[in-house]
Amino acid sequence: MASTTATQHPHADRPPICGEPATLSNPLALTATRYANRQDIDPIEIQDVRCTLQAHRTGDHYAFVVGTTATTSAWTRWSRGAGPQSVLVLPNCPITGPGQDETCSEYEFHHGAHTWQVDDPWNPEEPAQ
Ligand SMILES: [Zn+2]
Ligand SMILES: [Zn+2]
Repeated sequence: MASTTATQHPHADRPPICGEPATLSNPLALTATRYANRQDIDPIEIQDVRCTLQAHRTGDHYAFVVGTTATTSAWTRWSRGAGPQSVLVLPNCPITGPGQDETCSEYEFHHGAHTWQVDDPWNPEEPAQ
């Protein structure tokens, strides 16, 4: 029996991510590169960030800035109506999915679903670096 179900968007059944964009100030971006010990990164390259949490109605937005070690990353968070005011280093979410490569790109104890459970239209099928 032929199926008529079209597969346009592979993750359309998943909850969307928040995606709220923000811009880090130059000093904050510089702070993040220092936390990462990555003076080779131009702060301009990491200033445009967006909240990758599952879409949420309350609480702060969180955006990944740069990896600092194998198990920690620099994040920025901001409340609605305000831009990022700080950069913080958080442990990476240690939870992995049932399949290979289903690692979570959020911080530990984040709200909402894990990376492989949400629909991120900005980053469809690209492998993590
Ligand atoms: Zn958000
Ligand atoms: Zn997670």
